Amino acid sequence: MNFNDTEIVASIMKNSGWELVQSPEEATAVLLNTCSVRENAESRVIRRLKQYNNKFKKLNKRYIIGIIGCMAERFNEHLVELDNAVNVVIGPDEYRRMPQLLDQALNGYKAVAVELSTIETYDDIVPLRTEGISAWLSIMRGCNNFCSYCVVPYTRGRERSRPMKSLMEEARSLFEKGFREITLLGQNVNSYKDEETNATFDILISRIAEINPLLRVRFTTSHPRDMSDKLIDAIATYSNICKHIHLPVQSGSDRILKEMNRRYTVEHYLKIIDKIKSKISNVALTTDIIAGFPTETEDDHLQTIELLEKVRFAGAFMFKYSPREGTLAYNFPDDVPEQVKIRRLNEIIDLQNKISRQLNQGEKGKTHEVLVESPSKKNPADWMGRTSTNKVVIFPNNEQKYKPGDYITVLIKKSTSATLFGEVI
Ligand code: SAH
Ligand code: SF4
Repeated sequence: MNFNDTEIVASIMKNSGWELVQSPEEATAVLLNTCSVRENAESRVIRRLKQYNNKFKKLNKRYIIGIIGCMAERFNEHLVELDNAVNVVIGPDEYRRMPQLLDQALNGYKAVAVELSTIETYDDIVPLRTEGISAWLSIMRGCNNFCSYCVVPYTRGRERSRPMKSLMEEARSLFEKGFREITLLGQNVNSYKDEETNATFDILISRIAEINPLLRVRFTTSHPRDMSDKLIDAIATYSNICKHIHLPVQSGSDRILKEMNRRYTVEHYLKIIDKIKSKISNVALTTDIIAGFPTETEDDHLQTIELLEKVRFAGAFMFKYSPREGTLAYNFPDDVPEQVKIRRLNEIIDLQNKISRQLNQGEKGKTHEVLVESPSKKNPADWMGRTSTNKVVIFPNNEQKYKPGDYITVLIKKSTSATLFGEVI
């Protein structure tokens, strides 16, 4: 989502005469787009900020440093006090005012804008995307779910959907420009609703899939409580809606799920998983897990382990619980000792890696349709692409016979827990 927001900001800036440069050394202003979901993410920004302050600002007093995104919202004017390094602080719903606020900063005044909106979707702004074949498309902003650990509803405000008409126009134009994959983004895509037509997410994704069979469509994130049969049917029906569903479960314990305010049970979650697996053949499922939530016992933890073994996710984002000020869970005792949190997280990671490795081993001898992306980082004679199930596939492309955006068929020869390797057939 922040990648896409950065593209929106770049577009707003470009339209008012600013140019992107390749490094902070060449810049008049540097804007850090930030995430507040975990403390780690915020600490990294603070370190980067200090680095820029020492390296650039202390040498050139007119150098402008801006903090944008969720940290701007959370820290507000406290950020401008920090080492006196920050000139502008702009929250996620104030990006339209960016050029004006930067002018203010250029004139020597600090600028803070962190008002949240109930309607802003930046629907008329075409993000300044870098070249490639994959595009992000935000279909909604904000979140109304208030999971007890999560800062997002506070930093990004209330949920609102971008009109379907403008989304369709942008999706069509992306295909015409050569993009071959669109990922629809929202904190909870299942509650998308077009005000004008009342269209729900299954309709939106189907209409986008119908633009052209050569356009792949992905989406993230689904909330298990709102995952509809209609959406599962749409994924099964359209071959170009990718066979990958990211469905964050967070915990395998009903008691912890309740404390997290997730509003579903493990039984409900497993029922959806069964439905998905029975309706969509060869689907890949991924998830998010939080280890060490307040009051989590060894038994709760073992239930999470059990759930991972039952579902056998293709992959997972696994995190240690990080208390976030202002959230409901911040008032709960953070009573799982750090060492125990780390041990539980490591057990979860070890098990998940084992399962990912096993599932990938099972791919040997199978063929996949792969959308060609780019040269691989390790060896430019090898290229990478992705399967519909979102697995990265490496294949030889010595004479660059295959170009970005081509669809090829690859026979899988070997694998690791994260990557498949194959030959084009
Ligand atoms: N809207 C999405 C994800 C938002 S944040 C969803 O609900 O799935 C991405 C992930 O970060 C969450 O799924 C959760 O696993 C993790 N996360 C959020 N807040 C956290 C916290 N305070 N500590 C640790 N992990 C957290
Ligand atoms: Fe956070 Fe829950 Fe909203 Fe996801 S659904 S952004 S975890 S509050």
